[in-house]
Parts: sequence; C-alpha cells; structure tokens
Amino acid sequence: MRRSPEEIAKMRRAGRVVAEMHERIRAAARPGVTTAELDGVARRVLAERQARSSFLGYRGFPAAICTSPNDMVVHGIPGDYRLEEGDILSVDCGAIVAGYHGDAAFTMAIGAVAPQARRLMEVTEAALWAGIGQMEDGNRLNEIGRAVEEVVEKAGMSVVREYVGHGIGTAMHEDPQVPNYWPGRPGPRLKVGHVLAIEPMVNLGQAPTVTLADGWSVVTADGSLSAHFEHTVALTPAGPEVLTLAG
Ligand code: MG
Ligand code: MG
Repeated sequence: MRRSPEEIAKMRRAGRVVAEMHERIRAAARPGVTTAELDGVARRVLAERQARSSFLGYRGFPAAICTSPNDMVVHGIPGDYRLEEGDILSVDCGAIVAGYHGDAAFTMAIGAVAPQARRLMEVTEAALWAGIGQMEDGNRLNEIGRAVEEVVEKAGMSVVREYVGHGIGTAMHEDPQVPNYWPGRPGPRLKVGHVLAIEPMVNLGQAPTVTLADGWSVVTADGSLSAHFEHTVALTPAGPEVLTLAG
C-alpha cells in the first residue's frame, strides 16, 4: 500500500516516539536493571506522548516492548531477568500515534562486552543500513534482502530466515513481507509512498532458531549470540526517509 504525505507525517510522529523510547531505554539499561524496569521506561514515554504500544495485547503479548538478551533473537517478554555486565540486549519498540504505527529495534552492550559481540552488533546495524539503501523508486523489493545478506555473509555470520521485515501503516504488520535474504525472486517494484519496517536478525553462529515454551521467546538453536536492528522507512520523492530517528 502507498501512503500519502499526510499519512507519512503521522507515521513520522509515531516513529519519533519510538526513537524516544530507544533513547530512554538505552540510558536506563545497565547491570542490575531488570527487563521489566525497561518495559516501565517504555510505558512512561508512551504515556507522556499520549501514544499506545503496538505490542501490548498483540496476539496476547503482555508487555509494551520486547527484550531479548544474548542468544535470544526476538520477542522476549520483559520480566525479572536482571542485566549483567557483558550481556547484549535487543530491544524492540512500537508506538501508535493517530492510528499509525512506528516500529524499530536495536541491540546494545551492557557494560563491556566481548569483541565478537561488538562485531555482531556492528555487522547487524550495517546490514540494516545496506537494506535501507536499496529503498529506491523502481528498485525491486527483494534487493533489500540481498543487500542485507551480503553484509552478513561477508562477516561470516548468519541471517535468521524465520522472521522478516514487513509493510507498516495502520497495522504494525502489513504486506509485503521483507526477507533479510534473497528469496529467489525479485518481488514487486518499490514506489514512492511505500513504508517498510526493515529488520535484520543476525546470529553469530548458525541461522536456525527455536521458540521457547512461553510461546514467544525465540532463541538461536546453537546458543550463539544474536542481534536485531530495525527501522521504519518511508520511500519519499527524495529517497528513503527513516521515520524512527529522533527529530
Ligand atoms: Mg519491531
Ligand atoms: Mg517489525
């Protein structure tokens, strides 16, 4: 679906709330803090900005954000897990403003982390930006995944295949799916007005994942570390605009 400039303006507002959630969570996350406390930080930002969480209640999800430490890939439920020095933590946030969604994720170091953890985060973020760089009018959708995969494979890491990016607008998850790999076909052409959440998940080891008994938490099958970076990006006449950055 193609969004009008007025709709994209609303999504920009939602995106800025998400960016503020990121900023405040980054500032609060340190050794000794629980992931439930970070969920509280996110809820305060949402309340202050009169926004709603995209995640709370989504298919029964019980929190405002997802918090996924270390070998957890995505969809972790905030709770009594206490962050430790050397952890990496993936945080995914979504906000609804005026009926439109913003969705973005990042992975951060908790104190000093191992060089390979640092490298994993750098590669995943670079892969996200390589994908964003493919959002050009007339380009094919799946060039995004091809660009993401190239960055990850060059680094000797693995792209998660079970979870993908997505269109976003009045629903958090809209068509099309945006794989983080080349799916064997080019897909539709990108046009001005398309808004996508691009979100590579990258494992330091092998790609396969397992869902835990809580029905949400996804971990790497081999126990290796995983990172996740995501932005909501609109294709404007001037090129890609990342909506989930601070204004
Ligand atoms: Mg997300
Ligand atoms: Mg998403």
